[in-house]
Amino acid sequence: MAQIRISAKDLGGLALPNFCPRCFWIKMHCSNKLPFQIFPGIFSSIDSYTKKVTNTHFARYSQLPSWLKELGDLGKPVKVPHYSKFCIVDEKTDVKLTGMPDEILQREDGSHFIIDYKTSKFTKTQDSLLPVYEVQLNAYAYIGKRQGFDPVSGIALVYMEPQTDLVQEELDSKLWENGFLMGFAGHVLQLKLEDELKIPSLLKEVRRIYDQKSPPPGDQDCRDCKLLDQLIVTAMGHI
Ligand code: SF4
Repeated sequence: MAQIRISAKDLGGLALPNFCPRCFWIKMHCSNKLPFQIFPGIFSSIDSYTKKVTNTHFARYSQLPSWLKELGDLGKPVKVPHYSKFCIVDEKTDVKLTGMPDEILQREDGSHFIIDYKTSKFTKTQDSLLPVYEVQLNAYAYIGKRQGFDPVSGIALVYMEPQTDLVQEELDSKLWENGFLMGFAGHVLQLKLEDELKIPSLLKEVRRIYDQKSPPPGDQDCRDCKLLDQLIVTAMGHI
């Protein structure tokens, strides 16, 4: 049985209502390297900047920024291990689960709180990717408990929402020599900690789908699969 490696976020894909086992099988067998995939790097730059703000704020004021207050006393930020270390291998399935949370905080009682930043507009329930994030954060908790961050007492998403309204009178304060400033407002969404309940069964499902000898059937109505069929027919016509 070959070991499978999957990130906490990709594991979350299995929780989407429109999850397609065929797409998943193909992606996993291509080591997640599919053509025509472009992910803008700006979001991870903003997440990384947010992390710097939080840590610098704590270093200067010995407390976390005000937008995290809603979560109660979270204690202090601790060093988050590199993703090559923040991982576990599930013995039953031989699936290696990896990840790297944006923030781990240690409360006074010694427990840990895990945060992931998302650069996006905030809605409490309308984020279509919420099922992915719920699994992603629970997977971090699952790994964390086994990597020296036990116990984990909470998980949350922190949305940093771009403030795109421009008040005319504030224009001058937004300008600087080579550009302009744009603010981000923080909103927290605490998630339910249910890692022991969710993660093992999803790892089992990863192994079950991956081990199939050929890709399982996809959704008959999927527009992308139809386009792919057309592409193949067109390409074959030119050979
Ligand atoms: S049906 Fe759609 S989602 Fe599934 S494999 Fe085809 S393109 Fe991917």
